[in-house]
Amino acid sequence: MTDNAVQQIKERLDIVEVISSYLKLEKTGINLRARCPFHQEKGPSFFVSPQRQMFKCFGCGESGSVFDFVMKIEGIEFVEALKILALKAGVELSDYKPQDQTERTKLLAILELATKFFETQLQQTSLCKKCQEYLLQRGLTQETIKNWRLGYSVSPTSGNWRALSDFLVGRGFKREEIVKAGLAVNSEKSPMPYDRFRGRIMFPIFDINSQVIGFGARKTDFIEGNKDEGPKYLNIPNTLLYDKSHILYGLHLAKMEIRKNDFCIVTEGYMDVILSHQAGFTNTVAASGTALTSFQLNLIKRYTNNLHTAFDRDTAGSSATARGIDLAQKENFDVKVILMPQGKDPADIISQSKDDWQKAISEAKDITTFYFEDAFSKFDSSSPQGKKQIANSLLPQIKKLTNSILVSHWVQKVSQALSVSADSITDELRKLPFQSTNENNQQPTNNPQPQILQEKNRQQLLEEKILSLTLKTPKLLDFMDQEDLDLFSSQFKIVLACFKKEAVCDITTIEKAVKSFDEDEEIKIILDNCFFQSENEQIEDPEQEIQVCLEGFRRVAWQDQLKKYGDKLKLAEQTGDLKKRQEIMDAINSLTKKRPA
Ligand SMILES: [Zn+2]
Repeated sequence: MTDNAVQQIKERLDIVEVISSYLKLEKTGINLRARCPFHQEKGPSFFVSPQRQMFKCFGCGESGSVFDFVMKIEGIEFVEALKILALKAGVELSDYKPQDQTERTKLLAILELATKFFETQLQQTSLCKKCQEYLLQRGLTQETIKNWRLGYSVSPTSGNWRALSDFLVGRGFKREEIVKAGLAVNSEKSPMPYDRFRGRIMFPIFDINSQVIGFGARKTDFIEGNKDEGPKYLNIPNTLLYDKSHILYGLHLAKMEIRKNDFCIVTEGYMDVILSHQAGFTNTVAASGTALTSFQLNLIKRYTNNLHTAFDRDTAGSSATARGIDLAQKENFDVKVILMPQGKDPADIISQSKDDWQKAISEAKDITTFYFEDAFSKFDSSSPQGKKQIANSLLPQIKKLTNSILVSHWVQKVSQALSVSADSITDELRKLPFQSTNENNQQPTNNPQPQILQEKNRQQLLEEKILSLTLKTPKLLDFMDQEDLDLFSSQFKIVLACFKKEAVCDITTIEKAVKSFDEDEEIKIILDNCFFQSENEQIEDPEQEIQVCLEGFRRVAWQDQLKKYGDKLKLAEQTGDLKKRQEIMDAINSLTKKRPA
């Protein structure tokens, strides 16, 4: 049935529609193009073909169907891509029965039910009018509470330590599954696990596809009787679904806005994100209380290379934020800091004045400027001791820059501001060790940057061009004879020979011939390339075009062959193999006679 569903989805969904919900596509000929989301590039080399319902990047080589695209851009497995696209296409995955559920989908079901349970609790105003009041007083609207699916976990003062667990058991889940989902805790004192979250405001944590995978929970000590010794915010522990080093809170709603604005605001708390979105700063996410990890940075990198972090000036030097910034710089992000008044967070500022936050964002400073001003404000730049202190605090930051023009800029700036020579700054800089910023950070597991394809030489380019022209206008094959075919590198030769043998003459015969290469990955890649080329280019006079290309190709191939003989000749002369030498000379002579026009 999966095959059937895949087929149905492919029939109903247009790849252009799906991809344009992620990227801004522009039309070019019969195809569309964009800047590739899978590698860094300035010009657009990512193409989508509505005709063949596939995408292809000529920069990094990524290509495939709508399924491949969604898997790659969302960083998910096939089954999950299938679910997302089935939903979009309105295709029912009918035999997806609960007993087939993997542990993962079972836990997702538990968390979804728990979210609904908490939402209902919060809306029962008799029970938690105070919580609602608290949220409204912090500046949230009812609509926002609904959008972010905030909830409330029943307080144990009501005598019930298992309100959620009992509810879930009633829905057919086992207690140990609820523990696995992170929602209940085993206890030595009691034979039965009890609810982890009690008497707290619940913030569901979503994955990139808006599925709830965890919770953060704020204590409600503002309600009389809700005593709670625990931390202000209690998070679900790492589970099969939730890994705090992998999650950016709010990314499911922020991702497209980040791409559109081409920068991402990183804050620390749930409230920061929710209030930012409510106020229209929808490109905001939060790394929940940890330093940004490589994994999280790679998630952001899919959408932008520009990071704005909200920064409390006091914690600048020491904090997790600073470690995250270090790593972001190392991964070539352009980092800016949004400065906030002492002791305030974005949520405070926004709930007082949206404009103040807008202003703070627009005045964000690039990170080195921030460290520069910070050092000069802390120490006396006129005394020798102060100069040394400034250099000590600033030079390690300059050392981190990966771009040598930037390094040179800052060396000069520091030397001028301290009235010392640039050479002395460079000397001190050289003495500093390179710092590794990888501590406490896992390497990204599923997001290696694709390799940039090697540049093609002229012969390869001409081969592609000739094949592209042939795909569009098969009768151009008549311009090539066997001697020409022998000049092509092996895969092109195989394809062109097949076209000739099958006497392809139109799109149907071409497609039939192309189908015979389904098992050959390398040839398939070549054909994909050439199909795109043929679709992208409007050629007025294909016959003239192919003749020009073939002439160029013959010359290049001829020169290439001559060069190969030259190398062989050199070798024969070095080893003193006279017989061999004569053979090669003969071959060169006959080749010279065949010099193409
Ligand atoms: Zn690419």
